[in-house]
Amino acid sequence: METINHFINGKVIAGDGDSHQAVFNPALGQVVSQVALATVGTVDLAVSAASAAFEDWSAQSPLRRARILSRFKSLMEQHRDELARLIVREHGKVFDDALGEVARGIEVIEYACGAPTLLTSTFSDNVGGNIDNWNLRQPLGVCVGITPFNFPVMVPLWMIPMALATGNTFVLKPSERDPSASLMLAQLLQESGLPDGVFNVVQGGKNVVDHLLAHPEVEAVSFVGSTPVAQYIHHTASANGKRVQALGGAKNHMIIMPDADLDQAADALMGAAYGAAGERCMACSIAVAVGDIGDELVDKIQARIKGLRVGNGLGQNIDMGPLVTSEHRDRVSHYIDLGEKEGANLVVDGRHHRVAGFEEGYFVGATLFDKVTSEMAIYKDEIFGPVLGIVRAENFSEALELVNNHEFGNGAVCFTRDGAIARAFSRKVKAGMVGINVPIPVPMAWHSFGGWKRSLFGEHHAYGEEGIRFYTRYKSVMQRWPDSKAQGPEFAMPTAH
Ligand code: NAD
Repeated sequence: METINHFINGKVIAGDGDSHQAVFNPALGQVVSQVALATVGTVDLAVSAASAAFEDWSAQSPLRRARILSRFKSLMEQHRDELARLIVREHGKVFDDALGEVARGIEVIEYACGAPTLLTSTFSDNVGGNIDNWNLRQPLGVCVGITPFNFPVMVPLWMIPMALATGNTFVLKPSERDPSASLMLAQLLQESGLPDGVFNVVQGGKNVVDHLLAHPEVEAVSFVGSTPVAQYIHHTASANGKRVQALGGAKNHMIIMPDADLDQAADALMGAAYGAAGERCMACSIAVAVGDIGDELVDKIQARIKGLRVGNGLGQNIDMGPLVTSEHRDRVSHYIDLGEKEGANLVVDGRHHRVAGFEEGYFVGATLFDKVTSEMAIYKDEIFGPVLGIVRAENFSEALELVNNHEFGNGAVCFTRDGAIARAFSRKVKAGMVGINVPIPVPMAWHSFGGWKRSLFGEHHAYGEEGIRFYTRYKSVMQRWPDSKAQGPEFAMPTAH
């Protein structure tokens, strides 16, 4: 059986004393490979390699680093189908969606290729007494990325190009559920001319993460995953003196106003709720029907679910694939049981959905609950499956209050034709990423990605300008050359007179 190993100092290696964990194809419900789980000794090797590579890499000009990233971008484009197939095999999402994930990752590489401009600084000429003052943004050192299963290419690429372009070296700890893409990223970076040790991958679980969080040579940690783990990572790494950004879970709402184009909103909701089987941190899992549109909205969604094509993500004309593991399928089914017990109206039940030819796959069909209320666990918790809940609200204020009172604040969306409502929504909503008639408002690479409330721990959002800030330290330099005549010592605070 194929083993997915580590990539350290330019080589794929098996670690001494590794244990192993099965990796599944979720459409088949079968083991397809095994992933190595590193020991702390292997983690030390990866951090040492990154640490040793830092001095030379950080001294390269940003232009030379950007040229390597530019070659990486071209190679990613050439290999995008291969990468997408790897994603589908281990994650289960449909092929076109996997291609979209790769494309969104490539956009961050493209942005990071602008590093020479992005790292330009502010210069103040002659601030006083022949002194000039300017600032620098300097790299941190060894940076670590810990990533979730749901975007095995895109989320690592929120981090890697930004960290490398700014002169850092990197250790990636990908999800153990779909680890193969990480090695392909490593191979393509190497082919692009990246020096050995600048980018490393260590496979594993909690013990690998814990060792990285405590490692004295690690300067910064970027995490994306569930909220409890994000909070733990932020707390632990901060206590160990690291810079940390930890993006957590979500429960994104779509408010649908009575004046919205209801067909357009229903189509948008289908993709946002059931795309990638709901395993997206930007999925809309709650729709808030405002005024008297609730019944009509439920009818429209129900009709559309009948046409939803569920199957193997590599098949033709498939809209939705399986969930990532059997444990996750059981967890999602458990939430559907719970929703029924809590008294929500189960309009469409996906628990017994079977896909012909893929009877062992981890499928749950699209599920729709109506009359969900804010006290229910299916409203409060992130289910991370194809389960959409409809909540009714009397008016816009009530709908907005629901969104703002929720624990999570990743994305939030409003469908309306009313400009005043749209403007009030974007200004008042407590969420990091806002959509007006846009169901999945994932920011472009030159903006930044991140939530509010318990969807983000730390100050910095991912990639874009925030990414440049996260991966660099600010330094101010003041300079005077001793060509002016001696002034004697000065004891008062210098001012620009
Ligand atoms: P997860 O939190 O279980 O795992 C994420 C990473 O943390 C993995 O690499 C895993 O190995 C590691 N990990 C897991 N448990 C750990 C522990 N106890 N201690 C240390 N490390 C641990 O998340 P997941 O199931 O892989 O991904 C789904 C979650 O990620 C969802 O909650 C989703 O909303 C979230 N997510 C958020 C964003 C965002 O930008 N906010 C993006 C994608 C996914």
